[in-house]
Amino acid sequence: MPGFELFGEEEKKEIQDVLHTGVLFRYEFADQRQGIWKVKEFEEKFAAYCGVAKAQAVTSGTAALKVALTALGIGPGDEVITQGFTFVATWEAILETGAIPVFTEIDATLNMDPADLRRKIGPKTRCIIPVHMLGAPARIGEIVAIADEMGIPVLEDTAQAAGGRVGGRHLGTFGRCGTFSFDAVKTVTTGEGGMVITDDLELWRAMAEYQDHGHDHQANPGGRGGEGRRFIGFNYRMMELQGAIGLAQLAKLDGMVATQQRHKKLLKEAAAAIPGVSFRHLVDEAGDSATFFAFLLSDAEQCRRVNDSLRRDGCGATCFAENSWHYYPRWEHLLAGKSLTSSGYPFNEPGGRRRVVYDPKLLPQSASILERTLVLQVMLKMDVARLDTICQALARAAKV
Ligand SMILES: *Cc1c(COP(=O)(O)O)cnc(C)c1O
Repeated sequence: MPGFELFGEEEKKEIQDVLHTGVLFRYEFADQRQGIWKVKEFEEKFAAYCGVAKAQAVTSGTAALKVALTALGIGPGDEVITQGFTFVATWEAILETGAIPVFTEIDATLNMDPADLRRKIGPKTRCIIPVHMLGAPARIGEIVAIADEMGIPVLEDTAQAAGGRVGGRHLGTFGRCGTFSFDAVKTVTTGEGGMVITDDLELWRAMAEYQDHGHDHQANPGGRGGEGRRFIGFNYRMMELQGAIGLAQLAKLDGMVATQQRHKKLLKEAAAAIPGVSFRHLVDEAGDSATFFAFLLSDAEQCRRVNDSLRRDGCGATCFAENSWHYYPRWEHLLAGKSLTSSGYPFNEPGGRRRVVYDPKLLPQSASILERTLVLQVMLKMDVARLDTICQALARAAKV
């Protein structure tokens, strides 16, 4: 998911527009900004690209989750369901609202297992967050159908899958809203940044106000200082330089996905020679953003052998069962309930009574999948020689 590989003249040109006016703030300064509103333009173009009515830019993908959850009314007393294979940000944002994260298994899609989702829905469930991990879709149609049946909103964490689609429709547009990250390693990068997209105009309005201290953004004689507010907010505003970079990166997104798909196809063909190998189930291969290539071996032992061989050839893969940032049993701080507060909140009540205890053995199905799954990142600038090196390493790994 490497937008940073393509940082070039287009990004510099957009940044120059901002430096030329000196207006770094996304609001106000109408006289000085010479018609340049980069964050606003980035929001409009991102929404149009995804085919939705509205996009709200914020400071990060984590902020996008927090802003979306808050606008959905999530808070203390609520539960939010997500999957046990995701980046820590997904559940950090849930805890940040005061709600409690509940974790589902993943299935062969390496994303939320709809059958387990059904089992985990309870009377306190107020939101469901499927994550389109490693660039490829969750079973989003099934998940939205279950959520609709229960009247629970779906928020798609699309941080890792910008440009991904199912049946031609963009990921992030199936649920009530979808969030994106533009951090340094994501497909579209603005250094730091995030976006929420939605067709729900009221939800968008709540997000737009919340991320700007509650400013209602209604034209009035007092200008920005005279604006009213409907509720308390916070500051998650994106700045103009980020908006500028985002515009240049967004224009490259479809090209990036096409390149990644081409590179991934070669890796997949080479890996097919490994005895007993199978591939991650793709809900819609044509819509895979192809940022990563995931393949499954027969068992953990073969997985280790194959990866040892790949490492010897300088092409080591990631086994996410060993990864401490993306996999439930490795989140020791979550499992132990560690926080900076004296009460132990959010794991404890303000009075000190425990609110939630996480069992490290909660997700056996996810463990049995991830302990035999290897993942290679698909880079944009893999030249013929590098692709050849990896393909040969895969061929050698097929013999161990
Ligand atoms: C990167 C990421 C986030 C958080 O994005 P930041 O912009 O780094 O805050 C959230 N969810 C997932 C799945 C991610 O990969």
